[in-house]
Amino acid sequence: MQAGADEHVSIGQTAQTQFDKAAEAMELDDETRTLLSTPFREVRVEVPIRKDDGTLSVYTGYRVQFNGARGPFKGGIRYATDVDMDEVCGLAALMTWKTALVDIPFGGGKGGVNVDVHHLNIYEIERLTRKFISRISRLLGPYRDIPAPDMYTNAQTMAWIFDEISGRQGYSLAAVTGKPIALGGSEGREAATGRGVVYVFEELARLEGWDPSAMTAAVQGFGNVGTFAATFLTDIGVRVKAISDITGGYYNEKGIDIQAALAHRAEAGDLGGFPGGDLITNAELLELDVDVLVPAAMGGVVNRDNSDRVKARILLEAANAPLTSIGQCHLEERGVYIIPDILANAGGVTVSYFEWVQNIQQFSWDEERVNGELKKIMNLSSQKVHAAAKEKNVTLRTAAFTIAIERVAEAERLRGV
Ligand code: NAD
Repeated sequence: MQAGADEHVSIGQTAQTQFDKAAEAMELDDETRTLLSTPFREVRVEVPIRKDDGTLSVYTGYRVQFNGARGPFKGGIRYATDVDMDEVCGLAALMTWKTALVDIPFGGGKGGVNVDVHHLNIYEIERLTRKFISRISRLLGPYRDIPAPDMYTNAQTMAWIFDEISGRQGYSLAAVTGKPIALGGSEGREAATGRGVVYVFEELARLEGWDPSAMTAAVQGFGNVGTFAATFLTDIGVRVKAISDITGGYYNEKGIDIQAALAHRAEAGDLGGFPGGDLITNAELLELDVDVLVPAAMGGVVNRDNSDRVKARILLEAANAPLTSIGQCHLEERGVYIIPDILANAGGVTVSYFEWVQNIQQFSWDEERVNGELKKIMNLSSQKVHAAAKEKNVTLRTAAFTIAIERVAEAERLRGV
């Protein structure tokens, strides 16, 4: 069960509440409000696979195409035990606002399979991926809906997805992003979400007059997003005092040696037994006395139950929907500076867009160009959100939603019903 589930607030509800707040602030008319709150298409499929021991397991897979007014649906695929229609729909809505906010020509989608991948071996995960994609392949394609990695999926998963789609639609590099470099992936994509998180933080720090080299941080989650966020935060001088993954948290007052943690994870498979810090729980990590808290794992981790104990003065949302609505209210009351997910973690989908562009043009960019273009978009988006929040006297989240909603609403209006 997700943290804070007793609050009866799901990711779907969190996304809807955030949308409603912005719609209220911008006095959005009722018709547009209904149109933009309703998912375009929700699909649920059965995903049966034969395990290596001969038994049959049947999983449930989901794909939600939330809004495609501004372009093909775009969104990751996650494999996790809390995946359900509500969560996937909420994440697809967030993708809609994220792609609009950073102004890339995509709509919003999301997918997932309710499965604990720790109980499957690599061959079983491949079969699961191929079966899931075979069930939804008619919805996918370079100009329809383009998946990408998310929790417990990676470049290898995307390579299988590419192969499945290409078997049906012909060689289709642009049908999926986050692929390995050897198979049309983009330089810089793997690090892009974590890199973007830190670009946004740096730009807002500049605008607010903070000195990152005098700050401390704690990062929850040591997967794709968390590892790169921790690495780049360290690079700009932030002392990362704690990191964590599913095995627990690791605290070091002097700062965690991120390279040593990466080396440990490469060898051991996870952070379990990492000697570079004192063992703490994930719950304790969220309540550490640091300047910046960076949730980079699951949704709903800061909620009604623990938000009063969060001591950080900045919450940098690297994960999707790490705050519940009540958690957000509590933090806002105490003046915590919240950098919203649809801005903070938009670097991943931005470089996915660059990958799609390169695949369509059959032309590769070098990493310097990818990172340079990413920085431009993250900086500009951060400046726009910061200015809108100041101008309208609203939170960064409401400002970000307002910019995004205006863009999607305009595309809807121009296209007509
Ligand atoms: P990942 O699978 O690479 O890593 C997930 C990490 O979370 C792992 O270290 C895992 O051990 C840890 N974790 C899992 N359960 C945990 C628990 N109960 N307590 C503490 N840690 C736990 O996933 P990711 O791609 O890094 O995604 C992380 C978050 O970032 C998700 O919310 C995802 O939606 C979001 N996100 C990812 C991308 C991307 O490009 N991958 C882009 C935007 C947003």
